[in-house]
Amino acid sequence: MAIIKAVAMMLVIGALIGLFLGIAGKKFYVAPDTRVEDVLAMLPGYNCGGCGNPGCAGMASALVEGSCTVDKCKPCKADVKEQIKKYLAEHAK
Ligand code: SF4
Repeated sequence: MAIIKAVAMMLVIGALIGLFLGIAGKKFYVAPDTRVEDVLAMLPGYNCGGCGNPGCAGMASALVEGSCTVDKCKPCKADVKEQIKKYLAEHAK
């Protein structure tokens, strides 16, 4: 009898914790910021460092932070530069 009571108590506690975590996960959900990944996908990907950043990932971070301009990337084509500028203008914080 004591074992059945203990198992029932563990099931109830487990269900309550699961319910709490499910509600907390939905209530405190923060949408991920994909701007750096999106800009990185648009950059040439040569990682040449010509822009003064440590590779294209560094350039993408600097562009999203606003500490750099896409014009510093010489290998980037003009239409892609405009695409990046438009994306950053539309996805400003
Ligand atoms: S200059 Fe352009 S291709 Fe070279 S690392 Fe910077 S962003 Fe990448």
